[in-house]
Amino acid sequence: MNKDISALLEQAQAICIERGARFTNARKKVLELMLIHGGAVSAYDLLDDLRETDSGAKPPTIYRALDFLLEQHFIHRVESQNAFIACNHFTDDHQLQLLICEGCNDVQELHSPQIQQSLNEQARLNDFLIHSQTVEARGLCHNCRED
Ligand SMILES: [Zn+2]
Ligand SMILES: [Zn+2]
Repeated sequence: MNKDISALLEQAQAICIERGARFTNARKKVLELMLIHGGAVSAYDLLDDLRETDSGAKPPTIYRALDFLLEQHFIHRVESQNAFIACNHFTDDHQLQLLICEGCNDVQELHSPQIQQSLNEQARLNDFLIHSQTVEARGLCHNCRED
């Protein structure tokens, strides 16, 4: 296994122990598959990947694992793709913006305080209370624009 991936899995494990959350084998495996896959991945792609080692894997296994990983903020939902990405740093809940490549499906996670501030400010001016938000931009990454 890639050294970075095993380091991230160990980090996730340590965070779960600290939080008293159960990082079961299925949950760990789904996170591992996401880290190996890279970019945006759908629940069905994950199910296919999981079935290579566990032919009896069922959709609820994936959905339960994804719910857990979302709750722990180890992954993010990519709304416009109906997919998920592994977070590039495991911390507490954080606001983010996504740059989604339509060529290779790579997703870059941004944390711009300026974007966040303007959105909060606009919501405040409109007397609006934000519960959740999605800022996703689609286009082509550097690699996908080269001939
Ligand atoms: Zn993140
Ligand atoms: Zn690309």
